[in-house]
Amino acid sequence: MNKKPEIPVKSPIEPRQLELTSRIQFNCHPGISCFNACCRQADITLAPYDILRLKQRLGMTSTEFLKAHTVPFEIDAHGTPGVKMRTRDHEPVCLFMDEKSGCTVYEDRPSACRYYPVALMSSRRSDEYTDRQHYALVQEEHCMGHKEAREITVTDYRKEQQVEQFDELNREYYQLILKKKSAGPAIGKPTPTSFQFFFLACYDIDRFREFLASSSFRNVYRMDDAEFDVLLTDDLARLKFAYRLLRQVLFGEMTIPMIDDIFEKRMAERGEILAKRKEMEIEIAKQQEPIERFIDD
Ligand code: SF4
Ligand code: SF4
Repeated sequence: MNKKPEIPVKSPIEPRQLELTSRIQFNCHPGISCFNACCRQADITLAPYDILRLKQRLGMTSTEFLKAHTVPFEIDAHGTPGVKMRTRDHEPVCLFMDEKSGCTVYEDRPSACRYYPVALMSSRRSDEYTDRQHYALVQEEHCMGHKEAREITVTDYRKEQQVEQFDELNREYYQLILKKKSAGPAIGKPTPTSFQFFFLACYDIDRFREFLASSSFRNVYRMDDAEFDVLLTDDLARLKFAYRLLRQVLFGEMTIPMIDDIFEKRMAERGEILAKRKEMEIEIAKQQEPIERFIDD
């Protein structure tokens, strides 16, 4: 007889939706008996600003950071690319956890680690332009912080964990994902190239810099030199610009001026290429004709 899969008796997420004014009973501190327990069961999804902070902290390029410290996954059924923090090979232990001192990247730890045990959730109604953020409480057995006497509002907890800057700089990213999800057939099925571009712009901010410096970008978009220099030297400015460019490329929200007649030029070039390709096909067909006739005979 087939044994039914065991369904967890209790979901770790409390069904109650939390607002900013809601109070939670929770405290986490180095002396607590479960110190590091959460970092030994790490399943951390990284958002763009998390990657930026960690790669700066570690003195790496985003490309090096992604290779050494992340694993790719698909965020949704469309295949939107996402990245999770890499853990030890055969156990979900965070590579940044030190048994004695705890988190070795504490000041730059990702947003998900800051929020825990609060879960940040974004949703967007089809008749609304922007998303709404709400919260829930995650209650896992290993976490003793829920047994501590301290009560704190979600607003004060966010302040204590310094999540504001993370939320501000990751918010556009979540909006892009939600917008892509809800756009449906109007936008069409995203192509593999659009996903590659999404990955580059959101996560690999140093390779995105190379793209901006290339003629593929400079020949298409109009931008004065001072503005352009900022994009090449300032990671944060580049991340904000990446969101703008993605909105333009994916959803046609035109906020970055393009060089006049670029489309006409591209079409003319494309027309020439197509005409050349057609000529070659005719030439190849002519050469093959006698061979095929010979085979048929
Ligand atoms: S980054 Fe730090 S807080 Fe987050 S799971 Fe790793 S060790 Fe823990
Ligand atoms: S109280 Fe919870 S969040 Fe803090 S160390 Fe323990 S398991 Fe981690």
